[in-house]
Amino acid sequence: MGRIERWTLGFLSLGSMMAIVVGLPIQLSHSALLPPPADVLLVGGRVYPLWPTPDAVVSAIAIRQGRIAALGSDEALRAWRGPRTRVIDLRGSTVLPGLTDAHVHLAGLGRLRRQLVLTGTRSKEEVLQKLRDYARKHPALSWIVGRGWDQNDWPDPRLPDRADLDRVVPDRPVYLTRIDGHAAWVNTKALERAGIGPTTPDPPGGRILRRPDGSPTGVLLDRAAELVQRVMPEPTVEDWMADLEAGARACIEAGLTEVHDAGISPATWEAYVRLVERGRLPIRVYAMAMYRSGLDERLLAEGPIIGLGDGRLTLRAIKVLSDGALGSRGAALLEPYADEPDSTGLLLVEPDELVGLAHRALDAGVQLAVHAIGDRANRMVLDAFETAFRERPCRDCRFRIEHAQVVHPQDIPRLARLGVVPSMQPTHATSDMPWAPSRLGPGRLQGAYAWRSILQTGAKIAGGSDAPVEEISPLLGLYAAITRQDLRGQPAGGWLPEERVSPLEALRMFTEWAAYAAFEESGRGTLRPGNWADLTVLDGDPLQVEPLEIPRLRVRMTVVGGRIVYESWSP
Ligand SMILES: [Zn+2]
Repeated sequence: MGRIERWTLGFLSLGSMMAIVVGLPIQLSHSALLPPPADVLLVGGRVYPLWPTPDAVVSAIAIRQGRIAALGSDEALRAWRGPRTRVIDLRGSTVLPGLTDAHVHLAGLGRLRRQLVLTGTRSKEEVLQKLRDYARKHPALSWIVGRGWDQNDWPDPRLPDRADLDRVVPDRPVYLTRIDGHAAWVNTKALERAGIGPTTPDPPGGRILRRPDGSPTGVLLDRAAELVQRVMPEPTVEDWMADLEAGARACIEAGLTEVHDAGISPATWEAYVRLVERGRLPIRVYAMAMYRSGLDERLLAEGPIIGLGDGRLTLRAIKVLSDGALGSRGAALLEPYADEPDSTGLLLVEPDELVGLAHRALDAGVQLAVHAIGDRANRMVLDAFETAFRERPCRDCRFRIEHAQVVHPQDIPRLARLGVVPSMQPTHATSDMPWAPSRLGPGRLQGAYAWRSILQTGAKIAGGSDAPVEEISPLLGLYAAITRQDLRGQPAGGWLPEERVSPLEALRMFTEWAAYAAFEESGRGTLRPGNWADLTVLDGDPLQVEPLEIPRLRVRMTVVGGRIVYESWSP
């Protein structure tokens, strides 16, 4: 009997909340029908719940037991105020469903804070100066590891040589990852440690760049970098925990409530589980096991792990690399590179292998998330998925393509038709636009970073950053998706402007559709009553301000499961 009453009350309050949202007065005629008091009541805001319609707007939210209890006007939600309710006046701030980044490398992001940071350097000399300072500051480090250089940003955009590094650090190995993670620049000491010399053959899926005399230049493409990584000291689980915590900290400061971690090892998973057990993971993480890391086999054998630590941590997907990146010409293209006519890039996985893996994933209820940048890689992945689904129909399997950066126009409709979720990073377009046309030539730009064309076919794009390849801030992602311009507003009107999305679509990419890509839309991604109270509070409205203002908005609060995990109200 008691259970039935509770159910009835729940039903009635859901009915009233719906009435509030459409602006009708609530009728609570009996005190027994008063809602239980909220733990937190947010009032005086501009709230975009993306529910019950995508363009709904309210001013107040009641939060109870970590979840959205009700939405409405300040007036309508007075009934939720109890003696112990914490009332927060938002003073006109904007509240969004907790922003989600669908493609992050969280440990890499955290490690950046501990490593030599070369992101944004404008010349080789600047890189070498930073290396000199860092080596002096850390005399005890046995290896000097850094990342973020990009020769495309230098006055002389030729790839560098190990001799440059040897001049600065001759006595310790130096390993510097390129901005896209698909090339490493190392010194002679590092090559010696790895045993790489003139006679070392290129490993499968990788290339050792060579001087005219055949000796290595010190630049290692894609899997050739693994030859050096193999001899570097292994991080401990404690190292991983420190990296993940530093990464999570950067995320909550940027207003993110969840990230999808695009490819982790067994040791990283172990570190995640320990952080959750100790209550030290402030954001939600949807993790993808890296293919052939060992964690993928465990996932296929034991099945998904969903919502550890009150919905904090999920392991449900396997991340596979199918090609390299455009910047280092490792992306697999159907036709040769416009600026390197004898190369079409590298495929890193065999089609049959991918079909076999897809079968196993479908049997185990595991999602596949396949990195594909070039149009050849994207077609190969779609072909493999289509073949796999013929034998084992995909019922809501939501296989993903990470990046889907250059898709042949004929393949674009196949994404939605096959139920594949494109997971795309708007800032990649604005970072790549200065040089992508020379890699691709004018003919192939039509399917490049083609958000509008993809949305028009009915696919839901999950938005992300690929941090630390790009900056972590989701505001930069919203801005890039809406404008296709750099931070100075160039080029006027945006690069390939027909592929821009509306502000509301951009917001859905980083909320609702990112949640869909993780099977989480019934618990988060919108502020529907009953969902987790995951919120991002900003000092301005990204749907209303001039787009150039979006990157300058400030995060006032980040709320995960009703708990404020980050707060900054200073001007
Ligand atoms: Zn990535």
